[in-house]
Amino acid sequence: MASAHSYSLDDELQYVKGVGPSFAQTLAKMGLHTVGDVLRRAPRRYEDRSRFRKIIELVPGDTATIQGRVVAAEYVPTSRKNFNVTRVLVDDGTAVAQITFFQQPYLLKMFSEMARTSRWVVIYGQAKRSGFGPIEMERVEWEELSEESDGLSTNRIVPIYPATEGVGQRRLRKIVDSILAVYLDAVEEPLPEDIVRRHRLMEPKAALRNVHFPGTMELLREARRRLVFEEFFLLQVGLARRRLAVSRDSKGYRFSIDRERLHSDLRQIVPFELTGAQTRAVEDIAGDLSSGHLMNRLVQGDVGSGKTMVAIAALFMAVENGYQAALMAPTEILAQQHAIVLRRLLEPAGITVDLASGSQGVKEKRAVRERLMGGQSRIAVGTHALIQEGIEFAKLGLVIIDEQHRFGVLQRQALHLKGENPHVLVMTATPIPRTLTLTIYGDLDTSIIDELPPGRKPIRTHWKRHNEAGGVYSAARKLLEQGRQVYVVCPLVEESDKLQARAATKLAEQMREEIFPEYRVGLLHGQLKSDEKDEVMRQFKAHDLDILVATTVIEVGIDVPNASAIVIEDADRFGLAQLHQLRGRVGRGEHASYCVLVADPKTDDGRARMQVMVETQDGFRIAEEDLKLRGPGEFFGTRQSGLPEFIFGDLIADLPLMDEARRSAFDLVAADPNLQSSGHVRLKAAVERSKLGFELIQVS
Ligand code: ADP
Ligand code: MG
Repeated sequence: MASAHSYSLDDELQYVKGVGPSFAQTLAKMGLHTVGDVLRRAPRRYEDRSRFRKIIELVPGDTATIQGRVVAAEYVPTSRKNFNVTRVLVDDGTAVAQITFFQQPYLLKMFSEMARTSRWVVIYGQAKRSGFGPIEMERVEWEELSEESDGLSTNRIVPIYPATEGVGQRRLRKIVDSILAVYLDAVEEPLPEDIVRRHRLMEPKAALRNVHFPGTMELLREARRRLVFEEFFLLQVGLARRRLAVSRDSKGYRFSIDRERLHSDLRQIVPFELTGAQTRAVEDIAGDLSSGHLMNRLVQGDVGSGKTMVAIAALFMAVENGYQAALMAPTEILAQQHAIVLRRLLEPAGITVDLASGSQGVKEKRAVRERLMGGQSRIAVGTHALIQEGIEFAKLGLVIIDEQHRFGVLQRQALHLKGENPHVLVMTATPIPRTLTLTIYGDLDTSIIDELPPGRKPIRTHWKRHNEAGGVYSAARKLLEQGRQVYVVCPLVEESDKLQARAATKLAEQMREEIFPEYRVGLLHGQLKSDEKDEVMRQFKAHDLDILVATTVIEVGIDVPNASAIVIEDADRFGLAQLHQLRGRVGRGEHASYCVLVADPKTDDGRARMQVMVETQDGFRIAEEDLKLRGPGEFFGTRQSGLPEFIFGDLIADLPLMDEARRSAFDLVAADPNLQSSGHVRLKAAVERSKLGFELIQVS
């Protein structure tokens, strides 16, 4: 029987004691709507305020929490215009620390008043010292200590929540505390008993209490472990169920494939020997396509590893079995390039290839549509035009999605729906660390191409300062003299395609008029019409242009083996993944290749990125470094990552726990695929409720 007063974690915050409608609105802006939202808002860090560091004991470099009385506040004059500096002195009885605030003029009045009334503050930051002066701290986090102690913000381990616009930490702590007091009883254990026992997990009520207000650091660790495990486990149960559903239920067209004939046919079609890794991927695909089950496979391989050839092999298998196949690419330029390669290799074998492009005229579009609907055309290559332009297939047996992370799940699904349950192959470069592949793509079969075609010379990467740019261009001239081609990537202009285009145009003019007047310079940016882009790309490929000044539109997939150098201006403005993709435009032929990063980075992070690029060419390692440098929050926020977002979990630090969760989850699902056993009722509900926070990549 439900009691009259039943509390639910879905209760709205405005009814919580001490909140009310107007404060509830403020909280809503922080994404906090329900009681459960607050309980699942993980503190960003903790301060042990049961024992503060003494100012007198601080050594420069220490990061510490101190508390003390505000004794003075003053305005510090500087020579810089519009630059406000406020200095505050804090005394904890052992020594005085000097705290400096920048660009927060309103603090002067606030701290002066606090000094007058002898108020206490808590300060968190890094200590430094110049000469024999006092300990100094800058860019600190601080909090005033309240008169009446509520027992939440002092004398204990205190949670510090993520930035809270307009909501003080102390107020937030009070709300969390009153929610814990009333609602903790409503928290249920979603995990089955044996899982809890086997992994020695803290029970959820205690875990939630301790993650907000830890009794001890040890309890905090156990609380976190429990909550992280739960998150990971729910994700993995979801993945395991999807994977099982695909392999068990989905029937797929059964292609008949004679391996020996396939390989001898491929030798006729492909102009070079496939690498071992490519051959393995082709074998995996052949196995899937002839199994009678639906293929749902990911081919993951670094830039330049030759994924296109694997796609061609798959397309060929489909066509040989009397089906049509479609290959979708994220940009016009790339689709165009694929069409050229496919035609060159497959048309001699009597296979017709059509390009579906947004920039085609009405007549041409209609002709393509008719050929695909009638089945005369066997292969369609295109951008999302493939799913938009009313295209229908006579008998679609396979869809391939290149650079899959560039597409949304709906676009991938739309392509799949163009046929009656066609096989699916998705391809991706390596935007995520190897260790995470299973986590993210756990519901797909995966083939990894971890080998570059033979004869590739490593790309030599140099980092030059702007004042060395002259030398960079004379080195480029040497390559041009040898008949090579060069990319010049223009600096990234934030937020505006138009400004970006203007910057690129200016750079191209400069190249044409001042730096390389004797060479043919082309220009490629996002504001060009797609037929203009195509024309520029065609000219560059045909070597009618020597230099291509471009924005990041060239980042995806462009393949011009004669281009042997890429100069990236203001390289520190780009992220590592993007730099790696850009660099991947060269080193695609037999020529020694170069990547020059021109940058005067102003941050440590910028310097570190340049360093990583100089040191390694391994896409997997770069992804790992990227993740370390940016931290999961930012890494995961990017469109490229496609990673789930966790509340408590950290994909790097907690990875071993992910493995544990994964193993247990897959075992559990193998034993009880539909989560029907009585011990799995709450688990099932939790899995279904839990938003995985990301779109699983499966398209069928
Ligand atoms: P990506 O994996 O980045 O899509 P591509 O398929 O564009 O790579 O291939 C990169 C370059 O390597 C192309 O010029 C392609 O023709 C060439 N290539 C692919 N496979 C081989 C191979 N087995 N041997 C030699 N060259 C290859
Ligand atoms: Mg490619």
